[in-house]
Amino acid sequence: MDINAILAERFPFLNTSLLHARIAWSIRLRWVAVVGFFLATLSARFLVDLPLPYEAIWKTLLTLFFLNLAYYIILKIVKTFSFFAELVFLTFHILIDLVILTYIVHLTGGIENPIYLFYIFHVVLSSILLPRWLPYIIATIVFFLFTVLVYSEHTGLIYHYSIFESASHKNEVLNYLTLVIFTITVYFSSYICTNFMHIFRDSKRQIDHLYDQLQKADQQKTQFFQYASHELKSPIIAIKASIDGVLSSFGDQLQEKPYNVLKRASVRSEQMLDIIRELLDLTRNRSIILSNHLEKVDVIKALNEVIQNESATAESNNIEIIFNCAFSELFLNGKEDDFQKLFNNLIGNALRYNKPGGKVYINVKLENKLLLIEISDTGIGISPEDKNKIFTEFYRAENARKKISFGTGLGLSIVKQIAENYNGQILVESDILKGSTFKLTFPIQ
Ligand code: ADP
Repeated sequence: MDINAILAERFPFLNTSLLHARIAWSIRLRWVAVVGFFLATLSARFLVDLPLPYEAIWKTLLTLFFLNLAYYIILKIVKTFSFFAELVFLTFHILIDLVILTYIVHLTGGIENPIYLFYIFHVVLSSILLPRWLPYIIATIVFFLFTVLVYSEHTGLIYHYSIFESASHKNEVLNYLTLVIFTITVYFSSYICTNFMHIFRDSKRQIDHLYDQLQKADQQKTQFFQYASHELKSPIIAIKASIDGVLSSFGDQLQEKPYNVLKRASVRSEQMLDIIRELLDLTRNRSIILSNHLEKVDVIKALNEVIQNESATAESNNIEIIFNCAFSELFLNGKEDDFQKLFNNLIGNALRYNKPGGKVYINVKLENKLLLIEISDTGIGISPEDKNKIFTEFYRAENARKKISFGTGLGLSIVKQIAENYNGQILVESDILKGSTFKLTFPIQ
């Protein structure tokens, strides 16, 4: 097994794209650190006038700046690192950062300057960014670098830049105490952070697992719907055809009562066929994988056609449809049939759940590379509790059931599914008894 496969198996919560994002994040943080340090030294020089080797500090910051630029360019050029390479690259960043920080701590007063607390950032960051045992190695390197620095300045092995004219680097007790407390802080921070990350990764793994199960259950439900609706369709068509046949051939010979019973049975079987057709539509749209064979669909033309088809229903209820659109055509990639179904459902609902003499407004706009289609009505409205439920299969709100006794409760599920298949979104705003606005958005290519 190669090293990448072994690492991927050992760290299932990490993958190359995640590591890539983490490296990009650490590069952004480093820009902030370089600028922050630079501004701090400017203040130290011109506001407080601390006696520091500014030239050496600025050269170090410049080195860090160019190193970060190099990381940035490498990350932009090499888009596909292997898992192992990403991990090495990230660890390498952190190690170089630690060496540079140690040098800056040395230049800015060593143990005298609490800037050495910045090591803790690296320990915390490495605990977040790296897998479980690596942060402890980083903590040990931090301990080693700082101890060597303090010891070397204490013994005079290297020069000590004094900023407060104190000789604290010579004070043995202070040095030991600082090192002991610093070491405890470093390892404890590492322990807390890695443990927290462990809990976080465990929870994420559980959530992923549950999500997988949920998706499987949803798939099974879709398959069941598909199977059931397919199997039910033919017998219902046969039943309806037989009833309609009896009604048209022998209807005039039947008494009123049996005639009405058969008429009701015909209407009911038609309603059942509606449900089956919508279920088939829904399951088809769920299992669809949008292929490359998409046409350019003129959305404005599709809307006009649906408005035209619905005009008789609108007229019979004295409802006015007002279409506001500044474009004569607007194209989206997709299937014409899908957009027809989508608009049919939304405009159909706006008419069905409207009041006699009401209005339906259809507005089409372009906003920030998004096509926005709003379908508003002046109808019964949707209560805040129902707003989240109406996109689930078979759900019909109480007020809608009172107004129109038959409905499948599947139209909006189909609308949502189609919109999502085309990377679109559907939202609803509504005031009970005043009306509703359904907002569809699609990204424009
Ligand atoms: P159906 O219209 O067959 O009931 P839909 O899936 O199209 O099924 O709609 C689901 C529910 O959402 C409706 O039963 C109704 O409660 C609510 N609804 C949809 N559109 C509107 C609207 N324009 N005004 C008020 N309620 C609506």
